[in-house]
Amino acid sequence: MHLARVTQNHGRTVLAARIGPGRVVLLDGLPGVTDDIVQTLARIGGAALAELVGRQAQAPDAVILDEQQVRFEVPVARPQKIICVALNYTEHAAEGNQAAPTEPVIFFKPPSSLLPHNGVVRNPGRSARLDYEVELGVVIGCRATNVAAVDWREVICGYTVFNDVTARDMQLLAIERNQPWDHSKAFDTFAPCGPYLVTPDDVPNPMDLALTLRVGDELRQSSRTSSMIFDIPSLVELISTNITLEAGDIIATGTPSGIGPVPPGQVMTAEIERVGRLVNPVVYEREPAPIG
Ligand code: MG
Repeated sequence: MHLARVTQNHGRTVLAARIGPGRVVLLDGLPGVTDDIVQTLARIGGAALAELVGRQAQAPDAVILDEQQVRFEVPVARPQKIICVALNYTEHAAEGNQAAPTEPVIFFKPPSSLLPHNGVVRNPGRSARLDYEVELGVVIGCRATNVAAVDWREVICGYTVFNDVTARDMQLLAIERNQPWDHSKAFDTFAPCGPYLVTPDDVPNPMDLALTLRVGDELRQSSRTSSMIFDIPSLVELISTNITLEAGDIIATGTPSGIGPVPPGQVMTAEIERVGRLVNPVVYEREPAPIG
């Protein structure tokens, strides 16, 4: 299932499911369904929800809309935390002159940085270089601590496309000064995510998906999730060790090589096979510094 939170012109956010290319059915008012995808899945289960979606798509009073007619909201309504994995693709570590890590390097983005599909990313005035980073987002489905790698599927409820937007000039300066780089990743709009939360039945093998990022028409990143240094089972085990994961938390699993800046006025398109395509235009609060 491809599940979304969408807003129509009257402003209320409701759950929707994709029922074919470019079409969604609203799931408003169905038993057990709230505007929170993670909570709804936890409450009624994926199989029962799929049945409800199938029935609603055929119902005489069904509201079926073109994807272009709805505004997508962030698919995860209330994450407590966004856990990002740095340097999880060998070639990306190499392009930053960093050694491949022997255990996951993590940092956190605040939930206030989340931005939906089609939302505008705003580079703050203090930065003159904004970078994209396409990443597979793994969404946690229930509270979980000390999860064994072999049990990882029991604690996740789906996947989404995530863009770990970074004020690269600020990050590089922080690294040079041996300071944490979190500030450069934490600004409002720096965590575009969506459009859909895709349940595991639609992604049988998340460890072998093509992921790409385009700036305008130009292909900038192209890799496969099979190139991760720490795969999803290992990440779930290692991250959940003494850190409680909550329903709705997002693990951003790291970006492949090809990172680079997005000039103001350009559009980033992050795409992951089977998971979706996330589009976000970029504006700067000030002119970028001249290159070189
Ligand atoms: Mg990243």
